[in-house]
Amino acid sequence: MNNDAAERRDEDCVFCKIVAGEIPSERVHEDDQVVAFKDLSPQAPVHVLVVPREHRADVRELAHQPEQLAHVVAVAGSLAQKLADGDFRLVFNTGANAGQTVFHVHAHVLASGELAEGEL
Ligand code: C5P
Repeated sequence: MNNDAAERRDEDCVFCKIVAGEIPSERVHEDDQVVAFKDLSPQAPVHVLVVPREHRADVRELAHQPEQLAHVVAVAGSLAQKLADGDFRLVFNTGANAGQTVFHVHAHVLASGELAEGEL
């Protein structure tokens, strides 16, 4: 974890624990800004979550970090290209009334295609 992520960690947050490797996940991408992993309860043939390493509650907070937000979108696009045909839905559930259950911002990337086993 980089220092910024360590500074912006919520000890009770399941995605902070996944980012730190303390809870297992099936990662399909990681870099210095984000971790992407398969959703445990997939809603499409390809369903991955792109999660910024730094803890922020939702995309409203990420809007103040436009470079990170653009990076999340870019990673979503490259994963859709790699794991499906390039087309995808990008969903940020934002707030409990909109179905958000994990309050660490994450983009759902939903697409058709097959996830290759073990592919990073
Ligand atoms: O947008 P929302 O907050 O509801 O999405 C949270 C997502 O995180 C769910 O799709 C859930 O399946 C996923 N999840 C996961 N691994 C966990 C906890 C939640 O993939 N350990």
